[in-house]
Amino acid sequence: MPLPPGAVIGILGGGQLGRMTAMAAARLGYHCHVFCPEADSPAAEVARHATVAPYEDEAALARFAAAVDVVTLEFENVPREAVARLAEAVPVRPSAAVLAVTQDRLAEKRFLRDAGVRHAEFLAVEGPADIAAARERFGGRCIVKSRRFGYDGKGQVMADGRVPPEEAWRQLGRVPAVAEAVVDFTLEISVLTARRADGRIASYEPAANRHEGGILRVSTVPAPIPGRLAAEAVALAERIAVALDLVGLLAVEMFVAGDGALLVNELAPRPHNSAHWTLDAAETSQFEQHVRAVCGLPLGRTVRHADAVMRNLIGEEVEEAVALLGEPGIRLHLYGKTEVRPGRKMGHVTRLLPLSSG
Ligand code: AMP
Repeated sequence: MPLPPGAVIGILGGGQLGRMTAMAAARLGYHCHVFCPEADSPAAEVARHATVAPYEDEAALARFAAAVDVVTLEFENVPREAVARLAEAVPVRPSAAVLAVTQDRLAEKRFLRDAGVRHAEFLAVEGPADIAAARERFGGRCIVKSRRFGYDGKGQVMADGRVPPEEAWRQLGRVPAVAEAVVDFTLEISVLTARRADGRIASYEPAANRHEGGILRVSTVPAPIPGRLAAEAVALAERIAVALDLVGLLAVEMFVAGDGALLVNELAPRPHNSAHWTLDAAETSQFEQHVRAVCGLPLGRTVRHADAVMRNLIGEEVEEAVALLGEPGIRLHLYGKTEVRPGRKMGHVTRLLPLSSG
């Protein structure tokens, strides 16, 4: 049974992904209740209710569970214990089991390996000796990533000949990690898939992504890849969503290797920055699709009606925003963050272009 409009969607996390989910939910007549530790969050600003409390606050979690009809998240590093506690009282989509895989880069890599999905070669890291071993095994260099709490290039160190393993281990903060072979990719792409509890699934076409310093700068649709490869990427993302028994959204980031092979880099069980283009260039936005998937509504069509280039406004770039509004085909999204910090995602801008035949 779908959750009817008027029901309350609980959102864990208060960032821009929660903000845009809450705006889509409101359009469909739902109310949102945001739970996050930060006061004045971008999501709480546009939600009907907000709880500001640490994720460890059991009394606050219990009150939140009693006040909502379903829980979803916009931030996958919510402690699993909090999600498991909520799940005793209310459906949580995605589940704690999905988070167990996607919160831990080593668990994620092992999951991909067991599912027969290609990925960068990796080794578990518990100390500098493992980094030295990985460097040796992977041709003189490797990327070491903390198992937990990594995002936007944080918690990553390139360990090549210039960085002694002890130094890489120190820079990482001496935490459990994975060391990956450096993939010689020609392009990075990502696919966003939505899946309902009854197994119905819908995916967007791949976007091509350009990162700088580990942070997404630009996403472009259509991705400059053959249709056959795009279809393969979508099928791969859907296979992973099914293997995870995911309910909600799943973003799958992939490398296109020189030989055209797809290697999965990362999974995120939530709306994703690389699918922001769907707000302005697709029949259904990823945020509305998120609401539809977690509420059991019919999934929307994912067809694209324009070509699009989405650019993040990072740090002081936000100061260009208002001037951009004077240009044709520009759609501006600001996240309401008052404090500008270097590397902080303040908003994004999507440039719409005529639909190409590709
Ligand atoms: P991640 O946090 O894992 O998404 O990594 C951020 C970015 O770093 C990726 O989008 C790539 O541009 C780059 N990167 C991460 N892992 C690798 C790898 N194994 N080989 C080459 N580049 C990588």
